[in-house]
Order: sequence, then structure tokens, then C-alpha cells
Amino acid sequence: MTPKSAAAAARSTVYGYPRQGQDRELKKAIEGYWKGRVTADALRATAADLRRTNWQALAEAGIDEVPTGDFSYYDHVLDTSVMVGAIPQRHRAAVEADALDGYFAMARGTQEVPPLEMTKWFDTNYHYLVPELGPDTVFSADSAKQVAELKEALALGLAARPVLVGPVTYLLLAKPAPGVPAGFDPLTLLDRLLPVYAEVLADLRAAGAEWVQLDEPALVQDRTPAELNAAERAYRDLGALTDRPKLLIASYFDRLGEALPVLAKAPVEGLALDFTEAAAANLDALAAVGGLPGKRLVAGVVNGRNIWVNDLSKSLATLGTLLGLAGRVDVAASCSLLHVPLDTAPERDIEPQILRWLAFARQKTAEIVTLARGLARGTDAITAELAANRADLASRTGSPITRDPAVRSRAEAVTEADARRAQPYPERAAAQRAHLRLPLLPTTTIGSFPQTGELRTARADLRAGRIDTVGYEERIKAEIREVISFQEKTGLDVLVHGEAERNDMVQYFAEQLTGYLATQHGWVQSYGTRYVRPPILAGDISRPEPMTVRWTTYAQSLSDRPVKGMLTGPVTMLAWSFVRDDQPLGETARQVALALRDEVNDLEAAGTSVIQVDEPALRETLPLRAADRPGYLAWATEAFRLTTAGVRPETQVHTHMCYAEFGDIVRAIDDLDADVISLEAARSHMQVARELAAHGYPREAGPGVYDIHSPRVPSAEEAAELLRTGLKAIPAERLWVNPDCGLKTRAWPETRASLENLVTAARTVRSELR
Ligand code: GLN
Ligand code: ZN
Repeated sequence: MTPKSAAAAARSTVYGYPRQGQDRELKKAIEGYWKGRVTADALRATAADLRRTNWQALAEAGIDEVPTGDFSYYDHVLDTSVMVGAIPQRHRAAVEADALDGYFAMARGTQEVPPLEMTKWFDTNYHYLVPELGPDTVFSADSAKQVAELKEALALGLAARPVLVGPVTYLLLAKPAPGVPAGFDPLTLLDRLLPVYAEVLADLRAAGAEWVQLDEPALVQDRTPAELNAAERAYRDLGALTDRPKLLIASYFDRLGEALPVLAKAPVEGLALDFTEAAAANLDALAAVGGLPGKRLVAGVVNGRNIWVNDLSKSLATLGTLLGLAGRVDVAASCSLLHVPLDTAPERDIEPQILRWLAFARQKTAEIVTLARGLARGTDAITAELAANRADLASRTGSPITRDPAVRSRAEAVTEADARRAQPYPERAAAQRAHLRLPLLPTTTIGSFPQTGELRTARADLRAGRIDTVGYEERIKAEIREVISFQEKTGLDVLVHGEAERNDMVQYFAEQLTGYLATQHGWVQSYGTRYVRPPILAGDISRPEPMTVRWTTYAQSLSDRPVKGMLTGPVTMLAWSFVRDDQPLGETARQVALALRDEVNDLEAAGTSVIQVDEPALRETLPLRAADRPGYLAWATEAFRLTTAGVRPETQVHTHMCYAEFGDIVRAIDDLDADVISLEAARSHMQVARELAAHGYPREAGPGVYDIHSPRVPSAEEAAELLRTGLKAIPAERLWVNPDCGLKTRAWPETRASLENLVTAARTVRSELR
């Protein structure tokens, strides 16, 4: 191998493309099918059209090898479960009756059976369906989807490479099926699973695959020697197969670390590595093992999960370094482009100049093609692209949006003391008790009340110009009146205004903060047919004016009971947005925190004595590798404290978290120094209360007693029983009574009944305390 021949052979590729289509045709077709308005054949035809459109877009842009099998009606991990025959017993009948309906039954459940559990795909906002396995699992190969989609792409005359979830990652993502002892380790099924992969690989080869990609992102996490050993065994066995395509093992989202030497030595033909955030670590590790002589290295130099334009010169330099380390170096995005929106072109509300700083899937594809051309033919072949790229990068660096001196000097002046409440907790608690005069076991909710059809209509009417701002605000006020009067009547102690004015808990704030961009069409799949439009933290963040104060004060004007101010915290703002790549996350978090701090202080000045700052995403953004976690938790907790520490001792700061296990971040939760925390707990029967107690958590807490993910109404007795369980871990003086999360996805009738029962439960248990 010479660097020159490695360069000349350079090709461009991607691992996956947004599935939904330009106008979210896939969402519409699938939801239409669920409602019986679209036939199965019509759905299949839409899907095939979208796949063809995507492949043709990639090919026309100059991508040399397109991915296949990345398309999904719901989720690629679920597709893998189907491919290996891991159909849970409870879904078998549905799958046998009809493969497509059975597939959706696994994804969404039916009247009779619950779906597979859903959880986040590594540290992205994409959710996959968790495979359920047990000692009795019998795998069987079903390569039909993979083979059919490969054939479709080949029929278009394209070079195509099937992309599969690798066997080790598949097992590491699985969990014990219901009824299987929790100690069961799915990895023990590896020997049963590998023959199934062997069969699929043989089928794909027979169908014309030269290469197959096996994605092993689970290997970028901390892995035990036994797990690394399993990876070694898996690829030794698959590599030793005679009837197989060439194998490319892909990793992304972080550095491969200890797994890199294992995979580098494996008898496979190629490795794909992330050279964006993990570039330096992966480069060093690759050099340390002597590179991949004679093998194919796919270099993910274009960030597949963020939306900033690539620094082409920098990427070319990385690629140049890699040339000496492999037989052939290809250019790719770091991961599937599933995690970014499709195209910047339809964005009309973002200034053209700023739009040029952004690269969605289509723009990233062009960057990859340019880089491959530059690598293969030299930079002279891409002079114009390099010049344009330099201009775009310079425009971004030099823009007043990127750097606002006032924001910068304020952030630099922040001291340790700014992020600390002036009084220690016991003093604050006494001041708050005197000020708020709440009963034991105070009742409250998490913030949102049902988002009714009328509210959505009002927002649509406003957007379409059918009503004006005044008319819209009247409707919001009417909603607030209803929410407040219901809470008073029901006897809740700390009220909320109901968040009727918020379309989304992040976007609502993003739209009002300077430096944040919102997109019109920037949809990204969150799960199944659910798509979100993450806003973009584009520049220095400031708050031109108060964002929530008038709604909260209006609500407060209607009641003598305290009304909580309600804000989304800085960590969650970052977690559910696209973040800046030109400064550390902690710096962005600090800017957002300072903007929110002003809002907190304005709420207090307007007479709000309870202020909740939600951080549901604190746990989910935890870095994949343990070594990176203390650094993250340090800036994350500092940002929260900076947001909340400017208030008087008698002002009570609440926070809220959900969708996660909290056991491993209890210390960080403590570090937030919030006076009260509400947490999801109903399903786990107050597990979190025990975790807080075990840690010696010293402040007030409201483990949820009403599971809001289900329309089911908990009885007063059931809620009381949960409270009694909670009281075993948390003393009555520090226990709150609340639902698991906000009520925006619920309907009014069940919300009404559930909250009435919750108040009754609190009264019952209070009376037992006397
Ligand atoms: N305050 C928000 C609500 O009630 C919290 C939502 C969340 O935790 N995701 O909707
Ligand atoms: Zn929540």
C-alpha cells in the first residue's frame, strides 16, 4: 500500500439517509395505513418510491456506493429483530397472521399485548425498540427485507452496500424478555446468533452484495473484557466464513478505544471509524496498532449528527493522515444521516447567508463527494468548493450572531458564587415554609395540562392569519382560567398555569432567544412516525425580553395559592437542540443559563414564589464513556445552579426529571441544589425514592404517584399506597405529591379524575400522620 494508491482508490459513501421524504410522505402513509385509509400495497409503493428517490439523490450527488436496508417502517433495530427471528411470544400470532401488522404490533402494541420497550439509541434523540431475549430464544434467519432492498438498488444500476446492525451491538442492546431472570446476559446467545448472521450474509452475497456493513456502535462504550472477547469471537467466526461478502465493521458516536485493536485484528476487510469528535483518539489508536494495511478504512469525517457545514480543509488534512494507515481510504459521514434533517433548501425563514453555515443530509452528501474527489484527485480538483467553504466558515466566525461581546463578557465574569444560593438549604427551607405555608405532603403537577384540539386549532389559526395575536392570547387566557379554576376546585396546593401557550418545551424558548434558529422543515425522526424539529443553537444566546412572565402573573392574578413559574433548563435546551460545534458545550450551556437566570429573576420580581426549572434530559445526555461523565456533570449542574441561584431564600426552586433511571446520577441531582425535585416513579413503585434516601438526599422530593404515560386513572387508594411506600424512604416534611410528568398528552376526563384521586390520597395519608 502506498498513500498514493490509497488516495486514488478513495470513494464516497454514507451509512443511511433520512427515511421520511421531503414532505414526510412516509409518516403520512404509515399513519394512514394505521387508520385504514391507506392500503398495505399503497404503503409499500410509497416506501419503495422513497427508497428510490433517496438512492437516486445520493447517486446524482456523486456518492459511489449507496447504503441499503437502512430504510425502515419504524426502526432498524426492530428490523434486525425480525431478521434474526427474535419475535416475542406475545407477538407471534400477530406476525403469523400478517407480517406488516405483526411488525407494527411489536412496535406499538395492540389492545391485547404491549409493544417492545423503546429507549434511546446511544446519546442521540432517536429511539429504538429493545430486543427481548431469553435462554429459550431460538433465532432464525429472515433476510427477505435486506435482500429485496439490495436488489432494488442494484436494479437501478447502483453500487450498493447493505447495512446491518452487527450481532454484538444487537445483543448488547437487548434486555431479558418478560419472565426471564434479570441476571440473564443476552450476550450468552452469541453462538446461536452468529449462524443466523452467516445465513443472511450468504443470502446477500447471492443477491449480489460485494460488501456488507455491520454496525457496532455499542463498541464505543466502555466494555468489559468478556464483551470485547465476544466481539473478537464474533468477527473471527464471521470472518472465517467462506460464503460471504466483504465485511465492513462500522463504529460511530465516539472513539472505539479498547475495541479498536480487537476489530483491527479481525479477519474482515474494512473498518469505519468516527473522525469527527473522536478524531484524535481514533487516529492515535489506529496508528498504535500499525493501521489497517491492505484493508478499507471508511473515514467518517463529516459529522452525521450535527448540522454545521464541514471544514473541508481540516477534513482533507485528517484524510491525508489516514492515507498512510490503510490500503484504501473512503469518505463518509460519521454515522447515518438519519439524525439530521433532509435539506436546507426549503428553509425560507433563515437568512441565506446563515443558511450557508448549515449542512443537512443533502448538503453533507455533497461535502462527502467533494472530499472524496479532493482526496482522489488532489485539491486542485476542488478549488472552487474549497474557496466557497472558506468563505462560509469565515462568514460564520466573523458574524455578530456567532460572537456577541455583551454575552461573552457576561459569561466570562461569572463566578463560583453566582452559581450558589446565598443561604444553605436548611435556612432556605425555613424561609420557604414561613413564606409558602404549605400543608404536609403538598400537592402539585409538573406543569402542562392537556393540549386540547382547540389549542392546536388556535395555534394553526394564528399561523394561518385567521386570528391575530390578540385573539390568540385571549384563547390562551381562557385556557389558563379553566386550568386554574380546576386546580383550585380540586384542592391542589401549588398551582400551574398549564403551559397552553407552548408548542414544545424547547422550541417555545428557542423562538424567543436571540442566537437560536428554528427551522420550518427540519424534521428528524424521534421514533416511529414521530418527527421533531430541533432548533439550532447558532450563536451567542441572549434574552431580549421576558418569555413567560406575563402568563405566570396572569395565572397568579386568578388565585391566592402559589402558582409555579415554569421554565425549561439549560441542559435540556442543549440536549434537544442542535448545538454549536465551535465552542465547548459548557460554554453554550452557560450562555443559555444566564438568559434563563434573567427569566427566573424576573419571575421572582413579578411575585412568583415557586419556580420550576425542568431538566428531563440531564440523564440522557450523559456521555457514553464513564471517563467523560464527571466533566459533563460539572458543567451541566453548574448551568442549572447558575439559572436558579439568583433568587431570595424564600423563593422555592423546583426541578423535574423523567424518562430515565436516576440511580447513577443521584449525586449530580443533589448538586443541582434545587429545593424540590419531582421525578417519574409510579411504574417503578417509588424506586427513585429509595435511591434518593440511600444517597442521603437532604431536600424535598416528589416521586410521581400517577403514571401519565397511560390513560389509566389511578385510584385514590393506589396513589395513597404509593405515598405510604414513599414515606418509608422520605420523611413527611420532605415528601411532595405529584404525577410522573406533564399532562399535555392526556385528555381532560382522565386528568380530572386522576388529580382528584391524587388530592384525596394526599389528604388520606396526611390524616394518618397525625
Ligand atoms: N413542565 C413540562 C410539562 O409539564 C415538563 C415536561 C417533561 O418533563 N418532559 O410538560
Ligand atoms: Zn417529565
